[in-house]
Amino acid sequence: MTDSPPSPSALALVAAARAAMHHAHAPYSRFAVGAAVRLTDGAIIQGSNFENASYGLSLCAETVAIAAANAQGRLADIEAIAVAGGAIAASGRIGGSAIITPCGRCRQILNEAEQMAGRTLSILCAGAEGDAVQQHSVAGLLPHAFGPANLGITSGFARAAVESRDA
Ligand SMILES: [Zn+2]
Repeated sequence: MTDSPPSPSALALVAAARAAMHHAHAPYSRFAVGAAVRLTDGAIIQGSNFENASYGLSLCAETVAIAAANAQGRLADIEAIAVAGGAIAASGRIGGSAIITPCGRCRQILNEAEQMAGRTLSILCAGAEGDAVQQHSVAGLLPHAFGPANLGITSGFARAAVESRDA
């Protein structure tokens, strides 16, 4: 983890995550989370947490954003993701400067994205407000991960899928 001052592009990605946070469907936890994936061409794809009345089916913002990138055929192009969130007050305001980090399930999803992208992803974590941003790596968040490589699947698999689609 690094606490060095975030770059302008990192701050822009955190801002995009915070914007997505406001679209959270989180009536049960009352905790809104937004995520924003940056692709190699600078495009940004957002996600927000999407809860369900059955609770266990709820989707995290990071998972939604990465799946959305995949749905656009861009899984192999992910280079960074920001996540931000905070509690929803009775007024509807989302606040709190405590930094949030991806849950265990999302760390596994991030590992999948990193291995399919074939590059080290930058994971930016922030609260709903405030200037503090932590930068993490997938390896730091999920050491000794089990991933596609353990099954003989490499980043070339995702690229081949895209190329066959475009052919
Ligand atoms: Zn999660």
